[in-house]
Amino acid sequence: MEVLIEKEAGFCFGVVSAIDKCENCLEKFGELYCLGELVHNSMEISRLKKLGLRIIDVKDLEKMQNCRVMIRAHGEPPSTYALAKKNQIEIFDATCPIVLKLQKDVKRAYDTMDKSKSQIVIFGKQGHAEVIGLVGQTENSAIVISSEKDIAQIDFTKAVYLFSQTTKNKEEFENIITLIREKMLEVGNENFFVTDSICKRMASRTKTLLEFADSVDAVLFVSGKHSSNGTYLYEFCKQHKKETFFISEKSDIDFELLKGFNKIGISGATSTPMWLMEEIRDYVLAKS
Ligand code: SF4
Repeated sequence: MEVLIEKEAGFCFGVVSAIDKCENCLEKFGELYCLGELVHNSMEISRLKKLGLRIIDVKDLEKMQNCRVMIRAHGEPPSTYALAKKNQIEIFDATCPIVLKLQKDVKRAYDTMDKSKSQIVIFGKQGHAEVIGLVGQTENSAIVISSEKDIAQIDFTKAVYLFSQTTKNKEEFENIITLIREKMLEVGNENFFVTDSICKRMASRTKTLLEFADSVDAVLFVSGKHSSNGTYLYEFCKQHKKETFFISEKSDIDFELLKGFNKIGISGATSTPMWLMEEIRDYVLAKS
């Protein structure tokens, strides 16, 4: 049996750089707090916890003082930085540069628009850390839409500044753009400003995943159960190739399902570590 790992699978550069930063801090100080899970992968989190990482939330931050806290690649709203400053907390900021630029773009649009005649709209997952960080740039006034039905919240007579969470799907974003434009044109409003803020890495990921799936007999898709990127990529791949199986760790593999296949592919989300995919590859080879 041949087992291949997809070359494009695994951490994106934003996550690689956050983990590097985290490991450097842990090596230097032995202990570091992180606001939320650094990556949505329980195996990687348990590895980092063994090195001294502690996961906290904003409520914990309110009670903490004089410690070191990491901000992960998703970024945080301005209120988190203000709270850290007030509590004399040293911030280790691993916000991905792409997310940072998007935060600045949202803030610039909000600061310069006529607030009585305009609105900021974010296409993203309600409650997602990156979205909270973006909404925070608008004094929490931005409208978050996650699907077609949510566009009813928009006032189509006012100007719309539309942005997307970096990890959203391009086709869905384009569909939302079309729907909003149609509604605005119905009332003769052309003040629609769209910023394409989907991460290029995410946009190209679906294409490379399907090419890889076509080159093997079956795909073991490795991801944490809570990774939205992982769930999306898995479902996308499964629709194209039904012999795609979701696993989080090697004990999830059902070898009955792999019977008769000669070429197994291993892929994963942007939060899936390469060491985990290599461990799974070696395990499948040892069992075959
Ligand atoms: S998916 Fe893109 S925007 Fe998000 S952390 Fe990775 S590189 Fe940055």
